[in-house]
Amino acid sequence: TIYQASEQRYDSMVYNRCGRSGLKLPAVSLGMWHNFGDVDTLSNAKAMIHRSFDLGITHFDLANNYGPSAGSAEETFGKILKSDLAAYRDELIVSTKAGYYMWPGPYGEWGSKKYLISSLDQSLKRMGLDYVDIFYSHRPDPNTPMEETMGTLDQIVRQGKALYVGISNYTAEQTKQAIEILKSLGTPLLIHQATYSMFNRWVEDGLLDELEAGGAGCIAFSPLAQGMLTNRYLNGIPVDSRAASSNSPFLKENDITEEKLLKIRLLNELAESRGQTLAQLALAWVLRKERVASVLIGASKVSQIEDNVGVLNRLKLEPEELEQIEAILR
Ligand code: NDP
Repeated sequence: TIYQASEQRYDSMVYNRCGRSGLKLPAVSLGMWHNFGDVDTLSNAKAMIHRSFDLGITHFDLANNYGPSAGSAEETFGKILKSDLAAYRDELIVSTKAGYYMWPGPYGEWGSKKYLISSLDQSLKRMGLDYVDIFYSHRPDPNTPMEETMGTLDQIVRQGKALYVGISNYTAEQTKQAIEILKSLGTPLLIHQATYSMFNRWVEDGLLDELEAGGAGCIAFSPLAQGMLTNRYLNGIPVDSRAASSNSPFLKENDITEEKLLKIRLLNELAESRGQTLAQLALAWVLRKERVASVLIGASKVSQIEDNVGVLNRLKLEPEELEQIEAILR
């Protein structure tokens, strides 16, 4: 059967302007870091993308290295785009990145012009696209002049291979520099993709202020702390969870400590008192910051995407609730 997008897809999603740009992003975006590789099931990947788009999620985030194997998430997305979403290309914001290791030799990672241009060309091929909507420098490169990396982002936009540019994992100070250089080149920084959740609040320490001053937006990745800020681990470590999976070196069973679980249980009670799930509370909390245009979630099942989009039913947090959260996190 041919996929037909829901007619109601724009009825309930909230779209936030990204910084002082013309671009609006859905309050919830879907990332393909996990569960979209060639080790995963194509039918599940399809089902998650279809459901997302039907719920108004217009933004799909990729990177050259997502899989495993590296590159295969872009291939999966390319297949689904071609078979089901080609008619909707102009309704989609597709992003990809380069920065982490992709191929051997001196040109296969970091931030040189040589690497970024080659990598984006490979990404476009894998996805079967002429351009991406957002191209990111995935991490700062201490050994390449910032002028070269930013100059390359500007060049990529002028070549028509990306509409907007972003940076990820840059410190507040590096972000300030990047904003200045890009502004002088005439390609303003659209967005910073930064990790932000109740368990990781580094962006509150200067980065959000730099973005505000520079007119750029923020998209928060791992807003659920890779699943810890959900009901996933309340009663042990499920065999199908990320913490139990050998494909995910970044969340291990040891990360689910008793100390974390104590906080997770208290936060879960607070969420229940608000009539929402813990995942929804965790996302509402990240979205309370005006600079944050979107929360970039991951998912292994359609039901998780539905749960997460449910955050829109109760976004507002009362001052007393924010106080309670601070007390729990302390
Ligand atoms: P999250 O913090 O949203 O974690 C997602 C995981 O949490 C899911 O895979 C699932 O894990 C679990 N989960 C999600 N929703 C629910 C729910 N409602 N109930 C129960 N469990 C749930 O984000 P990710 O860490 O996946 O990162 C999201 C995206 O951010 C990535 O896909 C990528 O696009 C981007 N990112 C960018 C980085 C960068 O350097 N720029 C680095 C990391 C991520 P399970 O498998 O256990 O079901």
